[in-house]
Amino acid sequence: MQRKGQTMKAKTTDGREVDLKQDLLDGLKMRMRGSLLLPGEPGYEDSRTVWNGMIDRRPAAVARCLGTADVIECVKLAVANDLLLCIKGGGHNIAGLACADGGLMLDLSPMRGVWVDTRRKIAHAQGGCLLGDVDRETQLHGLAAVLGFVSQTGVAGLTLGGGFGYLTRRWGYTADNVVGMDVVTADGRQVRASNEENQDLFWGLRGGGGNFGVVTGIDYTLYPVGPEIVGGVVAWPASEASKVLELYRSLVEEAPPELTLAILMRPAPAAPWLPKEWHGKPIVGLLACHSGKTEEGEKVVAPIKAFGTPIGDVLVRRPYAQLQTLFDAANPKGRRYYWKSEYLPRIEPALCEKAIEHAAAIRSPHSAVILFQLKGALNRLSEEHSPAGNRDACYVFNLAASWEKAEEDETHVAWARQAWNDMKRFGTGGNYINFLTEDENQERIEAALGKSIRRLGEIKSKWDAKNIFRTNRNIRPA
Ligand SMILES: Cc1cc2nc3c(=O)[nH]c(=O)nc-3n(C[C@H](O)[C@H](O)[C@H](O)COP(=O)(O)OP(=O)(O)OC[C@H]3O[C@@H](n4cnc5c(N)ncnc54)[C@H](O)[C@@H]3O)c2cc1C
Repeated sequence: MQRKGQTMKAKTTDGREVDLKQDLLDGLKMRMRGSLLLPGEPGYEDSRTVWNGMIDRRPAAVARCLGTADVIECVKLAVANDLLLCIKGGGHNIAGLACADGGLMLDLSPMRGVWVDTRRKIAHAQGGCLLGDVDRETQLHGLAAVLGFVSQTGVAGLTLGGGFGYLTRRWGYTADNVVGMDVVTADGRQVRASNEENQDLFWGLRGGGGNFGVVTGIDYTLYPVGPEIVGGVVAWPASEASKVLELYRSLVEEAPPELTLAILMRPAPAAPWLPKEWHGKPIVGLLACHSGKTEEGEKVVAPIKAFGTPIGDVLVRRPYAQLQTLFDAANPKGRRYYWKSEYLPRIEPALCEKAIEHAAAIRSPHSAVILFQLKGALNRLSEEHSPAGNRDACYVFNLAASWEKAEEDETHVAWARQAWNDMKRFGTGGNYINFLTEDENQERIEAALGKSIRRLGEIKSKWDAKNIFRTNRNIRPA
């Protein structure tokens, strides 16, 4: 806790250490509706920690913003005093981009309001919403936005990087389904970004990350989904993996757009739907979500349920919002995580062999090899549609390492890196910017953004020439 007369240290945008004067903090505190937290104060630890336990950074202060006016106060103060700014949406970014040592953190977690316009089929979500906040409110009306599939992920970070989930095959990336955003810009104004207003900013925000401002609200197009759908997982012993992957390859060829299929290979979690004797033993799971009519869904997933002798089967009719939380428990905040990922044009037999081989080399009870189907609507838009790009991506693989103890870091990071080195040749050459870890280099960022980088640089120089918003996958002003 800061004592009276004690000086706080903070970082400037170019990394210098400066004194954070008490009167500056007192003034900000007075002007904010939310709270300003300093190290040692209750709530500071919760704000500064992010999902990935590998990230351990300490901002100089945390501003828990309660609304746009608070965000504007913080941006103005940071700009006037050249303070490093960082923005936390859901805090789920694996590289820990939400948190910077010595920065002024804008924690948007108090801004989680969702308003659903059932007539226009649009949801307005505040910038600190988690996916589950939006699903919960929209599902009351049998509607859904195109989001990811872990309910504690932040909508803002996910959308600003592109975003995909079970509805992507039908309607594209999350960013393809945004109709407008409210943004606080580097000059402390609130502006609207949409196809009607500030089109350049709107384009940049749909894949270019938080480079251009603080997003305080996002308007999503909604579609009729659920509330009941058919979804879940069927699991078999890992010894059946090559047959299950062959089944997967044949099913994805024929799958209607309503059906999204994924493969999960990992040690069995201690989940109640898996027999105790299997816990910790290697399994292969086929994850399915059919977002159309339930009768139709049951028909199309029948071959999965009838395949071989599963050790567990929770592929059933269930609320869509419940399916969206199915993997929450497997991804707790604070565990250690390291990912390596690539977009794929197709699922080749040789890729499947490699996936099985590297799944067998997993040494942590929490790590997994994941293949996720994307093919569909996103491929029908042009590469120039938005910086989310990668319109040739039909699948994505993720080598998702996760473990408990810091002393095991090297082992599990090495597993993901080795597997990726062996499997990256199957990729499109692009990758998903939101899956990049802290140690990824500029080459990988450029591969994720492709040709969009140049236009993003121009937009950056118009909206944030001084690079105030830099704690992200940073675009240099052109
Ligand atoms: C368990 C798990 C599951 C996931 N599943 C999916 C999935 O199904 N589909 C998918 O597409 N992705 C998925 N992701 C990846 C996810 O899209 C990224 O981790 C994303 O960055 C998370 O957003 P966030 O708001 O939680 O991140 P944060 O860590 O809070 O922020 C990430 C970046 O966005 C910036 N940012 C956040 N909020 C704002 C804002 N309001 N205004 C301006 N900038 C902001 C931050 O400054 C930072 O640079 C998953 C991640 C995890 C950890």
